[in-house]
Amino acid sequence: MTLPRRRFDTLVIGAGGGGLRAALQLAQAEANVAVVSKVFPTRSHTVAAQGGINAALANVLPDNWHWHMYDTIKGSDYLGDQDAIEYMCRAAAHLVIELEHAGVPFSRQADGRIYQRRFGGQSQNFGGEQAARTCAAADRTGHAILHTLYQQNIRARTHFFDEYFAVDLLRDEQGYILGALVLEIETGEPLIIEAKTTLIASGGAGQLFRTNTNAHINTGDGMAMALRAGIPLQDMEFFQFHPTGIAGKGMLISEGVRGEGGYLINRDGERFMERYAPHALDLASRDVVSRAIYTEVKAGRGCGPKYDHVLLKLDHLGEAVIAQRLPAIRDMARTFLHIDPVEQPIPVYPTAHYTMGGIPTDRHGRVVVPAGHGEERIPGLYAVGECACVSVHGANRLGGNSLLDIVVFGRAAGNDIIEYLKENRYHRPLSDDGIAAAMARLTRWEQRGDGESVDGLRRELQQVMEEHCGVFRTQAVLEEGLAKVRQLRARLDHAVLKDHSRIFNTARIEALELENLVELGLATVASALGRNESRGAHSRVDYPQRDDERWLRHSLYFRDGETLDYKPVRMKPLTVESFPPQERVY
Ligand SMILES: Cc1cc2nc3c(=O)[nH]c(=O)nc-3n(C[C@H](O)[C@H](O)[C@H](O)COP(=O)(O)OP(=O)(O)OC[C@H]3O[C@@H](n4cnc5c(N)ncnc54)[C@H](O)[C@@H]3O)c2cc1C
Repeated sequence: MTLPRRRFDTLVIGAGGGGLRAALQLAQAEANVAVVSKVFPTRSHTVAAQGGINAALANVLPDNWHWHMYDTIKGSDYLGDQDAIEYMCRAAAHLVIELEHAGVPFSRQADGRIYQRRFGGQSQNFGGEQAARTCAAADRTGHAILHTLYQQNIRARTHFFDEYFAVDLLRDEQGYILGALVLEIETGEPLIIEAKTTLIASGGAGQLFRTNTNAHINTGDGMAMALRAGIPLQDMEFFQFHPTGIAGKGMLISEGVRGEGGYLINRDGERFMERYAPHALDLASRDVVSRAIYTEVKAGRGCGPKYDHVLLKLDHLGEAVIAQRLPAIRDMARTFLHIDPVEQPIPVYPTAHYTMGGIPTDRHGRVVVPAGHGEERIPGLYAVGECACVSVHGANRLGGNSLLDIVVFGRAAGNDIIEYLKENRYHRPLSDDGIAAAMARLTRWEQRGDGESVDGLRRELQQVMEEHCGVFRTQAVLEEGLAKVRQLRARLDHAVLKDHSRIFNTARIEALELENLVELGLATVASALGRNESRGAHSRVDYPQRDDERWLRHSLYFRDGETLDYKPVRMKPLTVESFPPQERVY
């Protein structure tokens, strides 16, 4: 089959903060870079990030990167790799200043320095008083960062394929990744992008769950592509539920609200976090606050006619603070709830938010898989951002650390690719078999008929994931969930696009996305079923304790045979002493 082809040094799949930061590094080094994105780059989900990006600048309160490192490891419930965490926390200040110089309009203090707000799970002096570490551009930080990175890429002449959908990776028999098959969404035409290196930066998979904070596009495509290429996914059981989504709707009310002094109350008006986290209160780690809200509601202390949510109170902050620091939150409450938070509290409930697991990488963004007693890299393949698991977030991500992750590891991967390209100067030949397998995914959705609808199956998957793999889990509920997701996969195999006079490309894209989501649903539930302990966001009612002896290790889920394997956590930092696991209290 002859398909049109384009050749680049590097193909970046995804134009969020992770992809754009890597592309910028490469374009500035004069590599020939292509970025494909299924939406226009500045609509990537990074645009939605509200609260801010962490860096120990010490502009508001005393701070240093070592305290940030401690908080991140503790927040991860000791599952984060300490070398990668040290690397990220040390690089943070430099990269935030770099963003500032690139044009990000950070909010300012009266003395002109970057404003930093208080975020959950962050402390001074290794677990002492609350820190102020999160650099914000009001409550539109992701918007500011994404637009700045896009503009800088345009200046550096990065080549963009806007509204192209990546279908599958192309791999040769020696295991090198040589680019991807992509689809131009407007025309439906396939295109082969050949590349000496491919970087996946396709974001998270929040659409696995019915109520979530994510955009419709967050379907974990890159992670599923990796699975189909034989690469396992790491730590998929750890899915973050953000404590404060708008109840029943899911849209995020940033942790920045609690950082500015907002707090949660139950139906008795009680500030209940005093009972769950006496020291950090509402700024305890996200897994802790989500479980507390869930427990309050379960105990009948929820608010509203159905007692099914709690309230986030911020009216006491006053209109001036809200207007200056939280304008988008106020807009959102007015638009979606028809209430003004200056006068009324916001109804909130935990909502699916962030994929901690993903494609296993080292701290240079290289994709690594188990080999013998160690690991080996997949030549030519990199991953960064929410689709990757480096792992700096471990079992629970701290707010403000994801925007940091994407710029730190986007840049690191860019630098490593530059070195790789020096050693690998020529394109390797592409086999027809690899292309045919990727094309088969596309042509399969050209069949039409009157089978089940893709849309209905997607909603069913989201419902199953919410009911069977939520904040609290048990073996029986997970087992039932796994069986249901398997059935959904079988039904999807027989689903067809509706028999209209013509098939819209968007319908075909939604079908491809659902295939990806189903793969990730299986990975998530199977990994959750495998882990018989409670750690971070993975809370097993039947195994309520953390069990470091057996479970201080990363899970790896393989698509072939739906098998699980495990690998050790990298406990040794780069230059400082490691932080051994301790009881995690806030
Ligand atoms: C509402 C909200 C608020 C948040 N606030 C914060 C915050 O304040 N601080 C913080 O640190 N973190 C925050 N986060 C998390 C953080 O924003 C994300 O984790 C991060 O921005 C992800 O960046 P990314 O580059 O990995 O992916 P994304 O920004 O999601 O970009 C993914 C890219 O991949 C492309 N793509 C995906 N699949 C395909 C495909 N098949 N073909 C082609 N292109 C594809 C998309 O088009 C997009 O360009 C927030 C998240 C949400 C949902």
